[in-house]
Order: sequence, then structure tokens, then C-alpha cells
Amino acid sequence: MNRPLNSPTEDRCSPSATTLTDWDRRHLWHAFTQMAEYEPLIIERAEGCLLYDMEGNSYLDGVSSLWCNVHGHRHPHLDQAIIDQLADVAHVTSLGMSNPTSIRLAAKLAELAPGQLNHVFFSSDGSSAVEVAVKMAFQYWQQRADAKPAKQHFVTFTDSYHGDTLGSVSVGGIARYQAIFQPLLFQTFRLPIPDTYRIPAEVAVADVCEHHLRHLEALLSEHHEKIAAVIIEPLIQGAAGIVFHPEHYLSGVRELTRRYDVLLIADEVAVGFGRTGTLFACQQESVTPDLLCLGKGLTGGYLPMSATLATGDIWNAFLGEYEESKTFYHGHTYGGNPLAAAVALATLELFEQQQTLQQLPEKSEHLGSLLNSLRSLPHVGDVRHKGLIGAVELVRDPETKEPFPWEEQRGAEVCRLALQHGVWLRPLGNVIVIMPPLSVTLSELDQILEAIRLGITEMAEITANQVSTTSDQSNP
Ligand SMILES: *Cc1c(COP(=O)(O)O)cnc(C)c1O
Repeated sequence: MNRPLNSPTEDRCSPSATTLTDWDRRHLWHAFTQMAEYEPLIIERAEGCLLYDMEGNSYLDGVSSLWCNVHGHRHPHLDQAIIDQLADVAHVTSLGMSNPTSIRLAAKLAELAPGQLNHVFFSSDGSSAVEVAVKMAFQYWQQRADAKPAKQHFVTFTDSYHGDTLGSVSVGGIARYQAIFQPLLFQTFRLPIPDTYRIPAEVAVADVCEHHLRHLEALLSEHHEKIAAVIIEPLIQGAAGIVFHPEHYLSGVRELTRRYDVLLIADEVAVGFGRTGTLFACQQESVTPDLLCLGKGLTGGYLPMSATLATGDIWNAFLGEYEESKTFYHGHTYGGNPLAAAVALATLELFEQQQTLQQLPEKSEHLGSLLNSLRSLPHVGDVRHKGLIGAVELVRDPETKEPFPWEEQRGAEVCRLALQHGVWLRPLGNVIVIMPPLSVTLSELDQILEAIRLGITEMAEITANQVSTTSDQSNP
């Protein structure tokens, strides 16, 4: 179809902003977006933590282009790594062959990962990294030397998020994303979310961790013979609304899964690569999972790539004579792509060269104190932070923690207002998420939090006005 241009002077190869806006609405079906009400925001270029639209307006990237940027946009070292790799080869399949860059990345990840997670399977996105972990865990029990073929089920968490392919949706727990697809999903044993903000009334604050571990232990002691693995987002459930698990919960889960002979899958797609202050979140509780899923920050936010790391015990279960069919029959065309591997290696080099992790405590503390200053604003129920992850939870009533109905899109409203103050954010329901690139400066953090402060204040004023107008109408 030959799409019309908006003005006769336009060139089809460089259409105007108006034309692109028009084509964007018509032709580009955006992820997790209600296209009937989509308002285009077209980013033409970026530099460091700044995004530029077609008019040259700049916005601070408050959520790392969806939790994946690490060292900033257009970092010369990362740009150069891709250019250098292009001079050799752009793509080599991983089906039965290899290339030096992907090999080096696999070895580097094995070296950096906790414990003996020495075997790296590459895919192209986080959902696939999870899908791979789930299939590996399942197949492992079917064919390891002392096989336990009854172990076919997974333990999952309410409101957990592991991606959008059907397997990863099955092990997820966000009702709104699952509802329509229910007939296509497999069943899991689902535990309540170990939330440290909304604690069940009968549980004492000091007892939250124990309470949830007892829950898991009861489940494992009854059903462990049927259970292949527990899958968890370590420390923080991202898409649930940046929900923090109690301290020592993760290490408790590791201990119980060992005791009951159940695998542990850690989905670090969001929390990996420095986000929580350590390279991997599991390291904060000295935990080594059996399978580790990585994505998002792996390439510094440059190219699609993910990885599933497995222990030698799992790897060994897949070795055998060809006719035994112990092969892992799974693979993605672009898995292990050398361009992506090159920029992933360069991302890891920058962690060392720029002392990225060493600089985090100062930034994290600054973020924490800025967040604390928001506590007194209207409708702020909770603020949470760890490393360079921050969250502001908006509630109707901070006393009772009564949430705003999700349909009211309060988080989105605050983010729309923050955009007018030069900061781009994307909320999770009523939770404002702060996840800037790890390269963010202290003054950029100031700007991000100031835009949120203004956004919340303006949202509260608008709400107050609406309330008074409504009561005027009902009481003429
Ligand atoms: C984003 C995310 C995924 C899915 O990754 P995609 O690359 O979007 O498929 C899986 N797990 C967690 C914890 C995530 O945050």
C-alpha cells in the first residue's frame, strides 16, 4: 500500500514527524499498549540518559528503555564493539556451530555467575530464557541417571512475571495477563506473594519471612514428588509493582528446594546486571540457583539477547548417545548472535573499566533519600528502593493502604505529568517505577525525582478538584 504523505514537499525516505505519527498509529502495533488510545512519542535519538524526540525535546530515561539500558545510550565503547564485530560477521547460527565472540561471552558469564552455573544457552529475549529453563527443568527429571519422571510440576508466585510466551505466562501469576489465555496454560502450584508492604493481617511484621517459608515447606513436603522446580524472581517481583520479598526469603527457598530435591530457577531478567547493587541479585543471599535466566541488561540495552545458565548436574542429564534422544530439542534462530554477544561482552568490560558497581552505593543512597522525601506527599502509600530500583506506590488511602482502582490509571497519569517535566517513566499500575541506567548521575536522579514529586502533587490536585466538582453536582 502506498501511504499518503502529509505534505507535498516531503520525501518518502524522510517523512515528517506528522506523517510518522500518522503511520505509527496505523501500522505499528505496540506492545502492552491499548492502540485505541495510543499517543505516539517518537524517540529519534538518545545519548547517555537522555532521549530526544523529533522536535529535539529531551527526556530523561527514567526506566532505562524498559529496564534494559545499563551504561547509557550511545556509549562509544558499546557502539564500537558492534562496529568491530560487523567487520567479521553479523550472524552465525548456534545450531551445531559456533563463533569466537559467543564462545567468549559464554565463558565470561560462567565465570561471573554464582556457583557452578557453567553451561550457557542463548536465546533472544527474557521470555525465551524462562521458557528454556522450564523445559530444561522438566526434561532433566525425565532423563537424568536416577530419573524421577513424576516431577512435572512447577511452583510459582502470585503476581510473578516471567514473560509473555505461553510457557512463561503459565509460570507467571498476573491474573490480568493470564485470564484470556487460561485454556492454553498449564497449571502450577501457586504460592501467595511474599510482599513486605501488604502483609496478611494475621502475620506479624517480624514473622513475614518465616510465614512464607512455612507456606512453601508445607507445599513441598506434601507434593515434592511431583514438583520439578520453583521459579522465582529473586529479591524483587518487578512487574508485580516492584514488590520486595523479605530479607532471607530467597536463601530460605534455596534451602527448602535442596532439602526436598526440587530445582530452583532464578529469573534475573530484570534484577540481573547490577540493578540491585550486586552483579546478580542471588549473590546478596549467597544463593546459587540450578538455572539462572538473564536478559534485559545483558547487552546493556543494545541488542536482543538472553541466556539460561545451568549447572553441571543438569547439563550431564542431557548427554548421551544420539539415539537416546537426550538432546535439548530447542533453539532460536538468532540465539547467541555474535553482534549481540559482542555488545554483551563490551557491557561486562565497562562494569570493570568504569567501576560501575563500586559507584552504585552513593547513587543508591541518594535515590533512597530522595524517595523518602516523597513519603509525605498525598496518596503515597509506600516508597521502596534497593540498588538502582525505586518505586512509589500510590494508594487511595495511605492509612488503610486501599489501592486506587487500576482502571483509574493513576500511575500513568503521574507519568504523563512527569513527561511534561522532562522525564520519561512507565508505571506498573499505581506504582511509579524508577530504574534509570546505572550510569545515571546524582543530578539526573534529582531531576527524575523532582518530576515525580511534581507529577504526584499535580495528580493529587486534579483528584481533589474532581472530588469537589462531583460533590457540588450531587449537592446543588
Ligand atoms: C522483562 C522480563 C521477562 C521477559 O523478558 P522479554 O525480553 O520481555 O521477553 C521475564 N522475566 C522478568 C523478570 C522480566 O522482567
